[in-house]
Amino acid sequence: MIAALAGGVAALAGGVGGARLSRGLARLLGDRLSVIVNTGDDFEHLGLPISPDLDTVTYTLAGCANPETGWGVANESWNFMAQLRELGGPDWFLLGDRDLATHVLRREWLGQGDSLTQVTARLCQRHGIASRILPMSDDIVRTRVQTAEGLLDFQDYFVRRRCDVAISGLQFDGAREARVPAMVTEAITAAEAIIVCPSNPYVSIDPILAVGDMQARLLAVEVPRVAVSPIIGGAAVKGPAAKMMRELGHAPSSLTVAEKYHGLLHGLVIDRADAALADAIAATGLAVRITDTLMRGPEDSERLAAEVIAFARSLRVGG
Ligand code: GDP
Ligand code: CA
Repeated sequence: MIAALAGGVAALAGGVGGARLSRGLARLLGDRLSVIVNTGDDFEHLGLPISPDLDTVTYTLAGCANPETGWGVANESWNFMAQLRELGGPDWFLLGDRDLATHVLRREWLGQGDSLTQVTARLCQRHGIASRILPMSDDIVRTRVQTAEGLLDFQDYFVRRRCDVAISGLQFDGAREARVPAMVTEAITAAEAIIVCPSNPYVSIDPILAVGDMQARLLAVEVPRVAVSPIIGGAAVKGPAAKMMRELGHAPSSLTVAEKYHGLLHGLVIDRADAALADAIAATGLAVRITDTLMRGPEDSERLAAEVIAFARSLRVGG
């Protein structure tokens, strides 16, 4: 644990990229880390409330995430899916046997009147996670994808269609009316730095920023706000971030990430592969830190997390 940033860190995260950096931050900061997680991907399936990004972050911090898929738990078995298929149930969305327990408990606890924040805290406690994992809102927000074929629900686009249709825009239904949970407000207020994880800017970070007065709250605290770019060498490490940039009329690059986050950030961490972009990014008004940003395992996550914290500390803001 490091003494710097004693007030803690609030990180904004989606699924895989967010979880990987959060894993490093959690190792360094323990209970001084709060991860504010996208719930725009959430949906109800077979009567169960599914929160893909919350679960990816939780499983990753618990050390039980499936390293191959990036979602679900390790050492999974698939008896439920096999039987579901046999009975003619929908099999486009996979639910492993172990993973299923999370969704069933979430259903049970939400049904008893707990908020998603409380449910997530209980799951964290049972996994022995010291850091706080916080849904961006307890109110329902649903990401929908605008395409030439009309509006698609996010999981329809992402899982069923495997992102096979070009997008023209995104909307976050319910976000404006959704409230920022008290725990999130507290985490932001107590933070000595805000870290935007290397998550998809369009479908992981934008929905978080769209919740109620989230953006105003983030801008109100005079602390360094830095991000790690999810784009390395013009490509996404995983998922449709680069494809979305192209479809929305931008070059897939860390410069596009810098422009996208204009006004929110003080600094951006980019990969060595993109060092040539540093001057152009600095010209947008951001401090730039160049390092290795690909996280292959927990050691990479911890090293990058330490660098991001040091970078944030080096920035003088406000005052
Ligand atoms: P999703 O919900 O699983 O799509 O989660 P995220 O939005 O958090 O993660 C997807 C983004 O993370 C993609 O844009 C990837 O390029 C990025 N990403 C994944 N792993 C890494 C990594 O090791 N380093 C960096 N810099 N980005 C990563
Ligand atoms: Ca996601």
